[in-house]
Amino acid sequence: MIKIALILLIFSGNVFALPEHSPVPGGVAVIPIGVIERATFNGRPVMTQSTHDEAYAVIGLPLSIKPGEHELVVGKRHIAFTVLAHDYETQSLTIKNRRKVNPLAEDLTRIANERKEMDQAFLYFDRESEADTTFQTPTVGPQSSSFGLRRILNGQPRNPHSGMDIAAPDGAPIAAPSAGKVVATGEYFFNGNTVLIDHGQGLITMYCHLSSIDVVKGDMLAAGDAIGKVGQTGRVTGPHLHWGVSLNNARVNPALFLKSE
Ligand code: ZN
Repeated sequence: MIKIALILLIFSGNVFALPEHSPVPGGVAVIPIGVIERATFNGRPVMTQSTHDEAYAVIGLPLSIKPGEHELVVGKRHIAFTVLAHDYETQSLTIKNRRKVNPLAEDLTRIANERKEMDQAFLYFDRESEADTTFQTPTVGPQSSSFGLRRILNGQPRNPHSGMDIAAPDGAPIAAPSAGKVVATGEYFFNGNTVLIDHGQGLITMYCHLSSIDVVKGDMLAAGDAIGKVGQTGRVTGPHLHWGVSLNNARVNPALFLKSE
């Protein structure tokens, strides 16, 4: 991954940092755009942020994106940027509850409805808001680097791992990584007890497998506010937090948003 110096953003007296520029599938492209204008990527709005002397588009790159040249549209300007290839390894896991790998016919309607609810949340785009993209870790524990791994569950290929797993005991507190609004909560078939937070400008975070949820839809959160407890609900091999970060509807590597230690 390409590392660049931390870029600080100034909003109404607050200083934020942009995520790390990592233009690979599942990464984030931080592109200088001179002045802020409406920016789109593949026809969909993308985040724009300004510092005291530069403006940037911050683009989430889906794991499925093809490496090569891509185009950002800013006002009437077309700005080319390159997505680099990145090889993600394969990971095989054994899930004891086989129904969580091969759902029964009666589970499929529920799964489809839950998918719709989450997909809708990932599409939120509040252009007016200031998005604080500097995240604190949502819970304390070892952070796996399993984002993007191609997954084989009980011998069958499944979607790649779209978040970061943080190992923590049942009941460990989970806190909002930055300010935002709770846009969905639910007890989902695969993700278990789940909370989704909208941080503005297409930046949505997701918390899965909770033992309990401490917020309701519509709650406004400050960084550090409690949102629930670590658990092992849904499709898991043990207690942990699955933390997902979505930017312009692309699931991206949460590590890119964490303050460097
Ligand atoms: Zn996970």
